[in-house]
Amino acid sequence: MINEEALWIRDKVRAHNKWFEESIPMIASENLMSPLAKEMLISDFADRYAEGLPGKRYYQGNIYVDEVELKAMEMARELFDCNFADLRPISGTVANMAVLFAFAEPGDIITTCALAQGAHISTAKFGAFGLRSVESVNYPFNESDMNLDVDETIKVLKDVRPKVAQFGLSVFLFPPPLKDLMDTFDEIGCTVWYDAAHVLGLIAGGQFQDPLREGVHILSSSTHKTFPGPNHGMLLGDNLDEEQEKALHRAVFPGVTSSHHLHAMAALAVTLAEMKVYAKDYAAQTVKNSRALGEALYERGIEVLCPDLGFTRSHAIAVDVSAHGGGKTVAQDLEDANIICNKNMLPSDTSAVKPSGIRLGVQELTRVGMRESEMTQVAELIARICNKDPPAKVKEDVKELKRGFTKIRYCFNEGEEAYRFHELV
Ligand SMILES: *Cc1c(COP(=O)(O)O)cnc(C)c1O
Repeated sequence: MINEEALWIRDKVRAHNKWFEESIPMIASENLMSPLAKEMLISDFADRYAEGLPGKRYYQGNIYVDEVELKAMEMARELFDCNFADLRPISGTVANMAVLFAFAEPGDIITTCALAQGAHISTAKFGAFGLRSVESVNYPFNESDMNLDVDETIKVLKDVRPKVAQFGLSVFLFPPPLKDLMDTFDEIGCTVWYDAAHVLGLIAGGQFQDPLREGVHILSSSTHKTFPGPNHGMLLGDNLDEEQEKALHRAVFPGVTSSHHLHAMAALAVTLAEMKVYAKDYAAQTVKNSRALGEALYERGIEVLCPDLGFTRSHAIAVDVSAHGGGKTVAQDLEDANIICNKNMLPSDTSAVKPSGIRLGVQELTRVGMRESEMTQVAELIARICNKDPPAKVKEDVKELKRGFTKIRYCFNEGEEAYRFHELV
């Protein structure tokens, strides 16, 4: 017997899958896992517990789990060329909580970007920073180039002498100038923390910047944004002493997790293996695509930020749509046309609920094989929505374009359907 409610749920999930298959998903924090990585999610790993580090678990039953996790840690250190990895944080936010737990005490000062400049909510008073009761001080930021003002930032750092200097954004267009700040970090003796959630896949592919080579001590990340793995998190480190490494492991368990998500860890392990092969091509094409999208929108009179800088060096662009009804209206109209993105605050905004911008990411479209010429078509569809073409009409052309791009690329089972799943019942 199968109950109606369970079937109803499955139908809804199927409807969602079909919708995304027919859509142009452009949320900058999402991606598609490979079929092999997805298979790990429905394995028995999903039903098990593992507390502690591999080889030192509290429960029995972890023989294979330990082997997989040790291999995953090794691959992570290899791919990112570093000597510390902890793959147990169950999301990027949980990874951030572990860093805060390990390296900051209540009342300590951490320097970071402001929310309106693209920072993540975990840096907010009402987010993880607040939970740890740290004081945050924001970097001076240049709106014109969507990056830190180096001279002013050095002044602020010398003035407030933070315990930790944190970098990384959710509207992450350009690499922060870490190299220019390193002497100041040394002088103050602060820990340098890089939140790579959005750009991890680009870093893996040698694009954007290499924060661990640029002197960062600890890197926290999600593993499902430009890095096309499962919803999960991880910590990577270099230049850490033994005490710091221990503090981080302890902060993850028993600090902010008990068991972790073993099926996601296995899916992450598969993705790491795949990225060792495909990261370079995938990351390079992703950045080409985002710049091509920025250019094509700009040519159509849409206000993409930072035209003088080629719009972006990452997978994402930020667009000021205040002339077209604002971020909320445009994001809703785009959804009605099967183009999925989010409204976003831009530096000049004061309201998070009525922001003037939208954020667009091209990493998933790259994963299904789109290239620069498709970016021009996508820009045309978005421009039509901005110029008030009825969404229902645009939707038909969105579906038509997407029909040729439903198969997954840059992974071992290249060419398999990206938006389908197996029928179990
Ligand atoms: C998405 C994001 C996170 C948190 O990631 P989750 O995995 O959703 O918890 C942390 N930091 C930044 C900069 C992000 O963009």
